[in-house]
Amino acid sequence: MLYSELVKIYQKLETRTSKLEKIKIIANFIKKIDEKNLKYVIYLLQGRVFPKYDEHELGVASQLMIKAISRASGISESKINEMFKKSGDLGKVAEIVVRNRRQSTLFRIPLTVEKVFENLRKVALQEGEGSQDRKISLIAELLTNASPEEAKYIVRTVLEELRIGVAEGILRDAIALAYNIDVDTVEYAWNILSDFAEVAKIASKMGRQGLKNVKPKLGKPIQMMLGVAAKSIEEVLREYRHVVVEFKYDGFRAQIHKKGNKIWIFSRRLENVTSQFPDIVEACKNSLKAEECIVEGEIWAVDEKGNPKPFQLLSQRIHRKYDIHKMVEKIPVQLNLFDIVFLNGEVLFSKPLKERRKLLFQIVEESNKLKLAEFIETNDVKKIREFYQRALDLGQEGIMIKNLDAPYMFGRHVGGWYKIKPTMENLDLVIIGAEWGTGKRAGWFGSLILGCRDPDTGEFLECGMLGTGIKEKKESPGDVTFEEITQMLKPLIIKEEGKKVWVKPKIVVEVSYEEIQRSPNYASGFALRFPRFVRLREDKSPEEADTLERIKKLYESQKH
Ligand code: AMP
Repeated sequence: MLYSELVKIYQKLETRTSKLEKIKIIANFIKKIDEKNLKYVIYLLQGRVFPKYDEHELGVASQLMIKAISRASGISESKINEMFKKSGDLGKVAEIVVRNRRQSTLFRIPLTVEKVFENLRKVALQEGEGSQDRKISLIAELLTNASPEEAKYIVRTVLEELRIGVAEGILRDAIALAYNIDVDTVEYAWNILSDFAEVAKIASKMGRQGLKNVKPKLGKPIQMMLGVAAKSIEEVLREYRHVVVEFKYDGFRAQIHKKGNKIWIFSRRLENVTSQFPDIVEACKNSLKAEECIVEGEIWAVDEKGNPKPFQLLSQRIHRKYDIHKMVEKIPVQLNLFDIVFLNGEVLFSKPLKERRKLLFQIVEESNKLKLAEFIETNDVKKIREFYQRALDLGQEGIMIKNLDAPYMFGRHVGGWYKIKPTMENLDLVIIGAEWGTGKRAGWFGSLILGCRDPDTGEFLECGMLGTGIKEKKESPGDVTFEEITQMLKPLIIKEEGKKVWVKPKIVVEVSYEEIQRSPNYASGFALRFPRFVRLREDKSPEEADTLERIKKLYESQKH
């Protein structure tokens, strides 16, 4: 299949704003595609070449892309840089350059979706010495053979900046429409496989029943169940009387897969963090008494007294690539388990929590490093309150109240788990831009532009500027400095406008504030008053950041 066919769809999607229209465009397009090309198209529609949980990323920086465009066109890097500075969009630059090239189109080999996909996969897989140069060649090869429009989308895909407004919900609904299957069934399979290409393949070949029969695969992460914020203990108990109350540990969510002697650990963002936690791998091998299982819990940094250390310390372990054994000693961790979803071939999602817990208790032999989550089974408000106070006194985040009759529900749903913690109004927002600082902050980004998520389009809408709470110098281990933030953001820059830069929405920060105000100046229509940095949320992906809807709700609730 020619890449130009997909480009036509990109163009249509880019110009339509209606969600329904986008769904129809995609559905009509994919339903005619054969199995092999379907995989490429589904990935490329998401602007990616690997499933979400795969650690390989395209993530090529602008400077490298400038080199690739230069190599493909013969135009100097400085000229391309100049064009980039003017338009702020390398996709457009590539389009113009390719349009003006002198080389005859006769020598061009038409690009197929397969060729684009394979080259981009190779780009993502390059490592080590000479890898930059190989990446440039792979991209340049595509650009040399591309039409102007194709060049634009290739560049945007490589920069992870496709901007055609296809969020996960749209793709899910398009697959449902294309193969005439209900949305819930498509969603169910996606939650288990976390890979739309796989979901579309099963839907096209085996239809609804195929999707219904999808089972978790050991070593492939599944979407996790989350809690809904509750205002009070009483509010939850009014609805649900049959509950278990657990500590809400201040760490990161871990989904652990065991197959014989092999263990995998996945974070809530579905990242594979197994190699960063050899201590937990060992503990799981010893404590999980099942041949095959998938269990869930929280990993947190523990001090000598058994209390939690700041989350920022733990986060040093989550992305550590070297000196892992030193870190194991320096920042010890503990795992507390609270759920099980798969046991020796049996899928447990539909079983009520009461039964899942029974199975979990049967297979866990507690040790120093691996324990069950602290809990009480009661609906006595006074006892729950005492338990909550104990959790807070021990330095944990709060409590979770869980409906014992509820099945395992992927994502955040009413009727399952409720979280109670002291500061519930903090927002998790995404850094979408920044401004270079002056004075003491010169050379660093001195203020950050925050965005909230629009789930319909997958875009991030500006809702505030953040400078407070980030430190000029590290004073305690948990501090985050302007310098660190600057280092994180620099490779993500996509556009520069004077002192302002726009960055890829990748980094999630937890922010407190005094009030939410209406604001015509920001795309979201809202602005945070006195926002303050609380911490980096490396455990959250941008798709999990707070939505415009939540900001609206908080705005409404503060009026009362
Ligand atoms: P939040 O990030 O505030 O939406 O809270 C959800 C997170 O709480 C989950 O992703 C878990 O990492 C964490 N958590 C800590 N303790 C528990 C628990 N006992 N049950 C469920 N989730 C927990």
